[in-house]
Amino acid sequence: MIIDSHCHLDFENFDDDMDEVISRAKESGIGLILNVATDLRSYTDLIALIEKYPFIFGAFGIHPGSINPEDMISVQDLTQMLHHLKIIGIGETGLDYHYENVDRKYQQESLRTHIEASRIARLPIIIHTRDADKDMINILREEMLYKPFTGMIHCFSSSEQMAKTAIDLGMYISLSGIITFKKSQELQDIVKKLPLSQLLIETDAPYLAPVPYRGKRNEPSMIMETFKQLARIKDVSEEKLELILEENFHKLFKNRLKKDALK
Ligand SMILES: [Zn+2]
Ligand SMILES: [Zn+2]
Repeated sequence: MIIDSHCHLDFENFDDDMDEVISRAKESGIGLILNVATDLRSYTDLIALIEKYPFIFGAFGIHPGSINPEDMISVQDLTQMLHHLKIIGIGETGLDYHYENVDRKYQQESLRTHIEASRIARLPIIIHTRDADKDMINILREEMLYKPFTGMIHCFSSSEQMAKTAIDLGMYISLSGIITFKKSQELQDIVKKLPLSQLLIETDAPYLAPVPYRGKRNEPSMIMETFKQLARIKDVSEEKLELILEENFHKLFKNRLKKDALK
């Protein structure tokens, strides 16, 4: 099966045609979707979504752009919001110095809170990193050395050093539609060097639709373009790539996701 390892179907972009989006996803061979919450308000929508659709699983966390510095979430509160058995990951969390609408020190504090919750709940962390390689590399190394955790870098578009650090720390790199963009040659060259055994793919829908849908609202079925492009970049058959990506996802999320969960 094809897995969309990261998207946001709880966003209002999908309010009008959710059922069509879901059937198009199924028709194109997608067997599992990981829907990622980005703030406290979306928690109830996330739960509703994962309870309605058997093949949608969830992750919960506070996106670096959604942090409220006056009301930082505690490790304890965060951990308590992860009890639902279909919540299989924590995030997204991370550092976004591109928009930087939240002060860096709060972003870093929140990231560390999520990492600690990830250790306690024994669930992998989903990391967003944009224009923040240096601090992200330092925090990941430092925290991993202190006490291990697992996770993925979602929508990877950072430097080779960022990728190598994450790979060395045993984390996974998730690739989005960006790898289909003409101007992403540099990223494609990095992807060529990464081990297949630590890669995942995602849409990050509604954002970042792959070519030829670029500029449109993205949705899980469009992941096929990213999947085919990755097969080309890595020079591997689509059959083999499908198996590897499925295996990778199950390895990372194994604590809550039983391999036969959907069979
Ligand atoms: Zn993100
Ligand atoms: Zn996202």
